[in-house]
Amino acid sequence: MLTAEELATRIQRVQCAIAQAAERSGRDPRAVRIVAVTKGMERPLIDLAYQLGLRIFGENRVQEAQEKFGNVPLPSDAALHLIGHLQTNKVRIAVRLFSMIHSVDRLPLVHELERRCERLGRRMPVLIQVNVAREPQKHGCTPEEAPSLVEAVLASVHLDLRGLMTIAPLTAHAEDVRPVFRQLRRLRDDLEQRFGISLPELSMGMTNDFPIAVEEGATLVRIGRALFGERDGGNHLVR
Ligand SMILES: *Cc1c(COP(=O)(O)O)cnc(C)c1O
Repeated sequence: MLTAEELATRIQRVQCAIAQAAERSGRDPRAVRIVAVTKGMERPLIDLAYQLGLRIFGENRVQEAQEKFGNVPLPSDAALHLIGHLQTNKVRIAVRLFSMIHSVDRLPLVHELERRCERLGRRMPVLIQVNVAREPQKHGCTPEEAPSLVEAVLASVHLDLRGLMTIAPLTAHAEDVRPVFRQLRRLRDDLEQRFGISLPELSMGMTNDFPIAVEEGATLVRIGRALFGERDGGNHLVR
């Protein structure tokens, strides 16, 4: 159960933790934006989060996002990002719903995204998802595969490559994931050099580890539980 006051407090707490982490690493806190992860949350709670100032929302499943936002889109100054795995057969719907896709991780997906965005006459900002820690159960390309994906996205005129995304392993100590975030940033730097491009966005950090991700250069932190509580089905808005 969550009241408006509680949600406001939680948002402030997260913003404060981001500002402190940015300060520790000499970064401008305004360079870090919150992607409020609303999977499992109902629309009234999401609308309240919007009223309280959040502007970027992240969903990890196309189907669920379509149910929640397909008929009633977010206000035009808000953005909906796809942060979860994208099946090729969901691309047609995804390119209508989302304003950024964080999970581009294989060539056939690049080609299908390009085809569908061309048909829709829009250019889609995308991130390449890298499985930095090489966890077998996780999606994302390997660091070695990243250059060929970059090449394919750059060749796709309806895709706008903005940066990289990773999901860090679950660890008992948040500090253990720092090398993962650092490797993503270094990979980004290498790719910028190699291709002579700018990749401004690093989507990394979640509830358990976002301060460390900010210290390591995150520009988009994907935060669910720290804002909305545990996803146990009890996250209703109390009026
Ligand atoms: C659920 C999810 C998050 C948010 O996780 P929390 O631990 O609730 O902050 C971030 N990124 C992805 C890809 C997710 O699926």
